[in-house]
Amino acid sequence: MTVRVPAKVNLQLAVGPLRDDGYHDLVNVFHAVSLFDEVTAAPADALSVTVEGGSIEGVPVNADNLAARAALLLAERLGVAPNVALTIRKTIPVAGGMAGGSADAAAALVACARLWGAGDADADLWEPAAILGSDVPFALLGGTALGTGRGEVLTPVQTAGRFHWVFALADGGLSTPAVYAECDRLREAEGWRPAPPQASQDLMAALAAGDAHALGAALGNDLQPAALSLRPALRDTLAAGREHGALGALVSGSGPTCAFLAESADHAGELTAALSKAGVARSAVQAYGPVPGATIV
Ligand code: ATP
Repeated sequence: MTVRVPAKVNLQLAVGPLRDDGYHDLVNVFHAVSLFDEVTAAPADALSVTVEGGSIEGVPVNADNLAARAALLLAERLGVAPNVALTIRKTIPVAGGMAGGSADAAAALVACARLWGAGDADADLWEPAAILGSDVPFALLGGTALGTGRGEVLTPVQTAGRFHWVFALADGGLSTPAVYAECDRLREAEGWRPAPPQASQDLMAALAAGDAHALGAALGNDLQPAALSLRPALRDTLAAGREHGALGALVSGSGPTCAFLAESADHAGELTAALSKAGVARSAVQAYGPVPGATIV
């Protein structure tokens, strides 16, 4: 059973004040893009994890892998033994702010549910998905969606047409908790207490109209100052994309991947080549969105 699952970019990531439980209230507009991991689940005598792909440093091959945690949680809920060989083929950058681990967890849920005969009741996967992490339910859903709460309460967002993107992948990752901590530190230092986050109406209108220029102007990420503080070189990456006509340029989620919105597929191709040549990223890849969530292939 093989499942293909997309990466996400956050079109808006509005981070509210730190809550007493250590989380932040978020307004998070997720957008699934055509960079995919694949997870295969095969019957086996015991749980195992194999990871394949170009840049897979730091991805655990034991029960710490999010795909393995998904299989273990689902097996417990279904009352079956978690005897499955998971093979993960990674294309989504690791620790890149594109929710690759969460995507693999969603894919493992779908693959194992089918393998263990849990039927097509996708609804039964929402709860374990939300337990595994706040980005996991979106990887099941795909498309474009507004996440509130910790990001896990999802409402699909209407979009028109296809948006063309370029992603500049960086050497090495950024730890999501470290980026949130830096965000809190910067806010504290400035004595700034954010208002409760709100969805951007300009962003919603741009998505509904399929207007890439308006979308480019409405993109926003409250974690960007923190990511730039931890990784100042990303400023050059963002500037290089803007110089080559990107309609919008932002750090993806907690970074360090940078996302650039292009005018068309051709423009995205040119931008990909320009960013690769500029030497401001490990590599640049072209993609489009929205695409569906975890899907059996
Ligand atoms: P997010 O955007 O959700 O904050 P991210 O894209 O920045 O996440 P991930 O690629 O999901 O980061 O991985 C973060 C860390 O999680 C990795 O450094 C690795 O140690 C661990 N991890 C566990 N399972 C996986 C997996 N299947 N793929 C990638 N990383 C995994």
